Formats: sequence, C-alpha cells, structure tokens
Amino acid sequence: MVHKITGTTKLLGVIGHPVEHSLSPVMHNAAIATLGVDYVYLPLPVSPDGLAIALSGFEAIGLQGFSVTLPHKQAIMPLLSEVSVLAQAVGAVNTVYRTESGWGGTNTDVAGFIAPLVNLRDWRQATAVVLGNGGAARAVVAGCHQLGCAQIQVVGRSADKLQVFQNSWRDSPFACNLSVHPWADLPLLLPQADLLINTTPIGMSPHSDQSPLSPAELQKLSAAAIVYDLIYTPRPTQLLQQARAAQGTAQGTAQGFDGSEMLVQQGAAALQIWLQQPVPVEVMRRSLLEHLESQG
Ligand code: NAP
Repeated sequence: MVHKITGTTKLLGVIGHPVEHSLSPVMHNAAIATLGVDYVYLPLPVSPDGLAIALSGFEAIGLQGFSVTLPHKQAIMPLLSEVSVLAQAVGAVNTVYRTESGWGGTNTDVAGFIAPLVNLRDWRQATAVVLGNGGAARAVVAGCHQLGCAQIQVVGRSADKLQVFQNSWRDSPFACNLSVHPWADLPLLLPQADLLINTTPIGMSPHSDQSPLSPAELQKLSAAAIVYDLIYTPRPTQLLQQARAAQGTAQGTAQGFDGSEMLVQQGAAALQIWLQQPVPVEVMRRSLLEHLESQG
C-alpha cells in the first residue's frame, strides 16, 4: 500500500538520540496506510542540547504529535505545558500531543505493558516480581498497580537505587504494596510469583545467550506463573525459552510474553491519542514482527 505524501499531509514522528534504530516508523506508517489518513510518521533525530529548540520548531511547522525515546523521556517533562498524572508517577513521557496551550505529555508504556495481561486473570490476589529498577520498571510498577496486583516486589542489584525507587512511589497516587529486594532474595520470592517481569537488559541481542535467571532459579516458579520479558530481540529470549522448559518439564504449561506486544500496544495507544480514532493494532503488530524477522 503506497501512501501519497502531499502538501496537506500532517506530520507525526519520534524524537530520540539516536533514533535510527526506532521501530516506531514501521508500525505507525503501516497503520496510517491502512487507515487511509493523511499523515506520515518520521524519525526525528534530536540531540539532548537541541530538545527545547526542537520543540519550538515542531510548534512552528505544525507537527501534530510525537513519540519520545531515549534520552529525552525525563528531560522533556519540564518543557511541556501539561503532563498526565500517570506520566508524572512514572517519571517519564513517551507520547506528546498538541493542546490549546502548548504540548501535553503522557506515558503509554503502562497501557502497552498491561495490554496482554489485563484480560488473562483476576490480578487482585497476584504477586508480581519485577527484575530491575530502571526506567522501564517504573512503567511496569504503575502497570501492576493498575492491574490491581496485591504485591509488587522489585528486585535490584543496588541497595541505594532500590531505596530511591521505593521512596519515589511514597506520595504518588500509585503508592501500593511495593517492596524492594536484593537479588539474593529471589529463591524466596520466585515460588510466590504469579507474574515475573524482566526489565533488565540482560539477554538483549547481541547477548542473546544470557538470562537474568538461571535454569535452577526458574525451576522455583510455579507452573501457572506468567513470565514477561520486556526485551524483544531476540525472539524468544533466553529467559522465555528457559522458563518454558523449566515450567513445562517440571509442572505443566506456562504462559510468556516478550516486549514486542508492549511496544506495539504503547504505539497503538499513542496513535489513538493523535488521531482520536481506533487504530489497527493487528496491522501494527504484523508490521513490527515482520520487520524484526527481516532483521534476523
Ligand atoms: P535502565 O533504565 O537502564 O534500567 C535497567 C535496569 O536493569 C537497572 O535497574 C539496572 O540496574 C538493571 N541491570 C542492568 N544490567 C544488569 C545486570 N547485569 N544485573 C542486574 N541488573 C542489571 O533501562 P530501561 O529503560 O529500564 O530498559 C530496560 C530494558 O527494557 C531494555 O532491554 C529495554 O529495551 C527494555 N524496554 C522495553 C520496552 C518495550 O516496549 N518492550 C520499553 C522500555 C524498555 P542498575 O540500576 O543497578 O544499573
């Protein structure tokens, strides 16, 4: 499907530094072509020094909205005229839209993360174990809170960073039953986990043979535990393969997700904000997965 760009075509895009690796243009332009709307979604390389001036430029050229990737997700927040409560709690904006008084920002990573989970079960009695306490872990904690998880246990390697992480939720509307733990606690935490989420980059291509947990640790998971690895290259990740083997051989069939669905769903949620209409999620998913496969 060829999308004709004309003088009336409206602009969307993604800012990042670097931005060349972004998968968002593939997904968004596939959805735009399917919808037949007069938009195009572009990669917009913006260096940290150029963020404020880029925003003025986007205003001047009438950009309709944009995605935000590293390293701008926090830095952009003070430059926006409104930031959603959710984005404030997560401490990061990944989607910017136009408002009457300037740019507004929100965070669709949370909706993206919970999308494959929300209808799977009743989460109210569930315990989530989150590996890592960086940026993605913040969206995951907010997501687990939205799911209604009874316990959210965050595991990290730095006691200081864990404490800062825990404190940061204290006065937030997402304050919840959150505890922080060193990796050494995992043998105690894993048997109780209903949902195990890897938010560390361990196992990401090119280190595809690595996993944040050993096969012996994964044997401690119950058969019903859902393993969710935020990484999407390679597919499947070593963690998901090992979890499947451990849970399958030990106790039955397990369910797992990689980060591709979160990526698709956060993009779909953003496109819906910009276009104010339902968007073809399946088209976005297919275009992303085909692109990932074509890259090996
Ligand atoms: P980040 O802010 O740098 O956080 C990474 C976390 O992993 C930190 O807590 C870090 O610990 C921990 N970590 C790193 N290496 C470790 C190791 N060897 N052992 C133990 N802990 C380790 O990164 P991020 O933005 O959260 O991203 C994390 C991962 O999520 C990346 O792989 C990214 O691609 C993925 N992600 C996916 C999506 C999606 O849509 N699917 C969205 C966002 C992120 P320290 O703080 O102690 O260094």
